[in-house]
Amino acid sequence: MSILIIGAGHAGGAVAASLRQHLPDAPITIIGDEPYLPYQRPPLSKAWLKSDVAFSVVGLRPQTYYEQRSIGLRLESRVAAIDCGYHTITLASGEVLTYGILILATGARARRLGLAGEDLPGVHVLRTLADADRIKAGLVAGQRLVVIGGGYIGLEVAASARLKGMDVIVVEREQRLLARVASPPISAFMKSFHERQGVAFRLETGVAGFDVREGRVTGVKLSDGEIRVADMVLVGIGAVPNMELAEAAGIACSNGISVDLEARTSDANVFAIGDCTERPLPHYGCRARLESVASALEQARQATAAIFGAKAPAPEVPWFWSDQYDVKLQTAGLPIGATQVEVRGDVDQGKFAVAHLDDEGRLCAVEAVNFPKEYMAGRAAIGNQRSA
Ligand code: FAD
Ligand code: NAP
Repeated sequence: MSILIIGAGHAGGAVAASLRQHLPDAPITIIGDEPYLPYQRPPLSKAWLKSDVAFSVVGLRPQTYYEQRSIGLRLESRVAAIDCGYHTITLASGEVLTYGILILATGARARRLGLAGEDLPGVHVLRTLADADRIKAGLVAGQRLVVIGGGYIGLEVAASARLKGMDVIVVEREQRLLARVASPPISAFMKSFHERQGVAFRLETGVAGFDVREGRVTGVKLSDGEIRVADMVLVGIGAVPNMELAEAAGIACSNGISVDLEARTSDANVFAIGDCTERPLPHYGCRARLESVASALEQARQATAAIFGAKAPAPEVPWFWSDQYDVKLQTAGLPIGATQVEVRGDVDQGKFAVAHLDDEGRLCAVEAVNFPKEYMAGRAAIGNQRSA
């Protein structure tokens, strides 16, 4: 049974490794369009920007790992099409490869604003190591960074840039920061923490365009008419799932490639894992796209079990983290169905947790700031209280 994995990211690298443990002889090949061995993205907005970090720190495994285990790597190779009927994929070069099992681990890409000037030098998104290197080169003390989007990427890069001595302003369309991923008490805490570090904010503000001089962006025009001078602009306005390949092949997609708890798609021979998927959330009785390492790794285990013929692993409570300065934000669960909020600990001391409970007092989610004990206890409680 020949296994092809499209996408040499966190999910693709992880599933290749776990499959090899169970299937010592199956031909396994990872095809990725980036030039690197599978690597982790979380350090890109944090350690990679702040200091000199070797690739070995972000790489999931060294080259020798793949060689010794006969895991084929086709890097800098883009898959252009899938034919589910003939069990083939076609690379952009025209080469055709055959599979027994296909795993889609194509991830997500940075959302674009769709404004003129966005592709000019000085404007960045952050998804890949190459993006991170370009941003790192522009982190110069005293220069001005305008961050568009007050989500995880925007705030993590703002923190890294402040630590490098840049002048930083974050422009966010919502009324509060981290609106997609955190509750109002966390948003308020993070805003005041960043302000104490010298970051400025414009909330409820969009972007109307860019100022351009000599082919380079020199400023950002805000929706309220203000123009912010910028030496560098970071656009961190969300991620879009890479599901076009699957859609074109007739595989069912919604807000991502639709999968079940075995990471199986609508085609029995095709699995999908990671940021490109829309998956069941059995603890909450709904489906969603989770953009996190934890979800990618869980789905890698689900796909491995299904391919290997083992029982599906017990569903995990979703979990997330973010590091900004010395603040560690950890989240377990999702506030789906929550009607009450309890703040535990000491917000002023920067060590607290926000618990989200439903009408019956069951914990839906916990968000912990520098409070790993509450996070761990909450994660266990959610698993115990909510039958998956
Ligand atoms: P990816 O890692 O995006 O990998 C997909 C790969 O597939 C990419 O290399 C892509 O180029 C390739 N590909 C796509 N289409 C094709 C094609 N047609 N042919 C060949 N190759 C293709 N998550 C956390 O949980 N905690 C964090 O702190 C955190 N920090 C993050 C910081 C940054 C800067 C970013 C960008 C993300 C962060 N995330 C974090 C999210 C996390 O990195 C993702 O959830 C994770 O990378 C998902 O893995 P994936 O393999 O599904 O996708
Ligand atoms: P995000 O969390 O979705 O945040 C983007 C923010 O930008 C949203 O609040 C969004 O508001 C706002 N926005 C959208 N359009 C805007 C506009 N035109 N002007 C101003 N603000 C705008 O996405 P992200 O921070 O870019 O992260 C991208 C991906 O990387 C995600 O998959 C994320 O999970 C991942 N990541 C994760 C971590 C972590 O887990 N620690 C760290 C970094 C990155 P609206 O809701 O109004 O669109």
